[in-house]
Amino acid sequence: MQLAVSCPYCEAQPISEAREVWALRSGRGGSPFGARILVGCRPCVLAQVRASTACTARSGWWTVPWGLLTPIVIAHNLVTLAVKDPPAKVRERLLQVGLAVDDLEVGDDGLSRAQRRLADGAVFVLASSVHADGVVDPRELAYAIRIAREVVGDAISLADLEARLAEPPDTTNDLQAVDPEGRYVLLRAACEIAMIDGEVSDDERVALHVLARHLGSAPMVADLLLEQLAPSQAVTREKRRAEAAAVIGVAPHASEAQARSAYERALLRIHGAVETADDATQETLATELTALQQAWKVWHDAPAFDADAT
Ligand SMILES: [Zn+2]
Repeated sequence: MQLAVSCPYCEAQPISEAREVWALRSGRGGSPFGARILVGCRPCVLAQVRASTACTARSGWWTVPWGLLTPIVIAHNLVTLAVKDPPAKVRERLLQVGLAVDDLEVGDDGLSRAQRRLADGAVFVLASSVHADGVVDPRELAYAIRIAREVVGDAISLADLEARLAEPPDTTNDLQAVDPEGRYVLLRAACEIAMIDGEVSDDERVALHVLARHLGSAPMVADLLLEQLAPSQAVTREKRRAEAAAVIGVAPHASEAQARSAYERALLRIHGAVETADDATQETLATELTALQQAWKVWHDAPAFDADAT
């Protein structure tokens, strides 16, 4: 099993392991015995289990009466290191730490279900915008490809993307299946295409209103987005977006998929830290969590838009 979220330790490999590690600590406040679930790529998780076991082996003997438990804790962790868990067990632990495994699990095509829905939705929405007037304008097509890249990263190959956008869209796409943030990103993308020539015709506006309804938003949301996308707003928006990106931990022009992965990873890091934190640190972590969630909202409310794009 592999998830479309990268490992919180190395930030490079996808998450593929969830192991329970036991630990004993002496001479500190709080419970000297702790079990926690470690989530990450296989090498990192096993390294963490080894480090925790070594720590117990060094200091666990001096806790009273916990010294008695030390051999049991070490034995448990050694078994954890030696045995490969069945996928069902890994899945159960991933769910326990709050990861939506069903949506994040990467399938044979290298995409998670959430990414596939977003990618299909993006192709549908962008192809609809490109084919709206019955002619495929190369400028619109090029712009749609650029936006698709921003939304789905390299999840779909460039050749595949060009081929799919050049065809009229499949009319059966269920846009409601895309998650709420993804739908917002798609509506924004359609608005960006409509704005490409600097103004929005009445026909385009009507089409965007219809699309907004398909995406489960009020037509007014499309109007607000168009207002936001006006070139005069671009500077403030870019600044807000750059600030949000810094909090989430990605570059200002990162794709939606990259941003989501970084966001999930940051949530995971905070979640993991809370388990072992003292009261003062808990407070800091709560502040950090609020900042992260606000940044995630800002990221979606402040769409990337290059006013000079051709
Ligand atoms: Zn790793």
